[in-house]
Amino acid sequence: GSAANLQESDLSTTETAARAGSEVETEVRNRRTFAIISHPDAGKTTLTENLLLKGGAIRLAGQVKARGDKRRARSDWMKIEQDRGISVTSAVMTFEYKGITCNLLDTPGHEDFSEDTYRTLTAADSAIMVIDAAKGIEAQTLKLFEVCRLRDVPIITFINKIDREGVSPFDLMDEIGSKLALDTAPMIWPAGMGGLLRGIFDPENDRFIPYEKPGTEKGGPDSEPESLSGERIADYLGADELATFREEMELAREGSPTFDIEQYRAGHMTPVYFGSALRKLGVRELLDAIVRFAPPPRAQPAATRIVEPTEPKVSGFVFKVQANMDANHRDRVAFMRICSGKFKRGMRLKLSGSGKTIGVHNPILFFAQDRELLDDAFAGDIIGIPNHGTIRVGDTLTETEDLVFTGIPNFAPEILRRVRLDDPMKAKHMRRALESLAEEGVTQVFKPEIGANWVVGVVGQLQLEVLASRIAAEYDIKVHFEPAPYETARWVVAEDAAELKRFMEAHRGNMATDRDGAPVFMAKSNWELGYTLEKWPKVKFSATRERA
Ligand code: GDP
Repeated sequence: GSAANLQESDLSTTETAARAGSEVETEVRNRRTFAIISHPDAGKTTLTENLLLKGGAIRLAGQVKARGDKRRARSDWMKIEQDRGISVTSAVMTFEYKGITCNLLDTPGHEDFSEDTYRTLTAADSAIMVIDAAKGIEAQTLKLFEVCRLRDVPIITFINKIDREGVSPFDLMDEIGSKLALDTAPMIWPAGMGGLLRGIFDPENDRFIPYEKPGTEKGGPDSEPESLSGERIADYLGADELATFREEMELAREGSPTFDIEQYRAGHMTPVYFGSALRKLGVRELLDAIVRFAPPPRAQPAATRIVEPTEPKVSGFVFKVQANMDANHRDRVAFMRICSGKFKRGMRLKLSGSGKTIGVHNPILFFAQDRELLDDAFAGDIIGIPNHGTIRVGDTLTETEDLVFTGIPNFAPEILRRVRLDDPMKAKHMRRALESLAEEGVTQVFKPEIGANWVVGVVGQLQLEVLASRIAAEYDIKVHFEPAPYETARWVVAEDAAELKRFMEAHRGNMATDRDGAPVFMAKSNWELGYTLEKWPKVKFSATRERA
């Protein structure tokens, strides 16, 4: 195929929307909410910092000389370098780039795969997958990728550390194609790697961006791009090297499909960018790709209907709650992804489940190092709502309508397993382990009415592995999981307490309690669930936990 086919630039659709649509429509089109997925050490933190730098969210000393606030900028930067704290201090970092509001979601960096990571990814519309050029696809990358695939989250690939010796670009592309079953479209190609790295090439625009090793006199990562057909590139690369590179480019082009934005957005194809986060090479190109190709906020499924991001009324869901974010105030901040409408400070929002209304007077917007009170926000934005425990992970908040977002946080577990202890003497320990892991949001734990074995519920197969290994590592208990005779679970409530009691008595074999003692109905099949639902119209079956 030829170089990328890139007509659908969202920068131009922005203008169309501004003319045609409402403020909400324009704002939605101008948002990109994405996460970075990677294996530890691949360079996620370094890349995050450099994306924020390029996005102007943090400033590097020296770049701001002209503006006279050098000192402040430098201290900001040094502080970040010192504690490398950006990725732990906030779950989201917002910055503007080319008129687009970018919300970069941070996924927990450690190797544990947890519901927390899962939930964070549910709040993202797309992801950047960072791969270490020397290591290829590693375990954690694969796991996180699987999560993205569950929801067809589109992925842009950044192959990092090309300033070091790595696997050949062709092999890396093959590995992504075969291990992830994704079509790969090269967008930026490296000229050499490691000690032989000479630059990167952007075939779409015929731009060769030279790279000089740090310490060399000329060039540097920011030197002027060259055309590959121009005169100066031969001087720069040398005739032989240029010929080899041209051949390689030709091979890459012939061997891979043309970039197709629809295929990418459907999660079938990944555009591939080579670069070095540390050397700031290819970072701008990556950021341009996010702005141009990554999808704006998507529609979100609720129990009763699909919610479009451009709807006028505010709705959102909470995917994370963080305690003690501010050492001075023992507060809890709930992170809400806005799914629709225009949120304004001071707005009253209704909590799904409890039906309580809360006034959101101090909503927080998160930047690289600062948090700020925000005035308004739109679909795709993540806002922090300080509270004292009223808001929980999985809650839906709405302006008016009774909505519950599904497939997202705190959803009914999709996989139920019975927990078997190798050493029955450790039952008490295990109970504690399960309960504390449940509290973290790693898993749901149910105690059946009948029988002694706990049942755990998870959202993905992967979590079972993690659960077993954490119980072994942190509590020194060996467990294994065996199939439970249940396929799905629902929390049950009823206005008439007597009716609920009758229901529970009639279904003792199906009943369990969650960690808070709330009753849960476990169904052997979706058919059984449907049947029971119809038979007991006064009982409410909820895929999310309802609270009083
Ligand atoms: P994370 O664990 O994925 O957040 O990875 P970090 O950003 O902390 O990077 C891990 C290590 O790789 C650090 O020592 C970085 O300096 C280094 N690193 C990151 N990007 C590059 C790169 O492009 N080239 C080289 N040579 N090292 C890099």
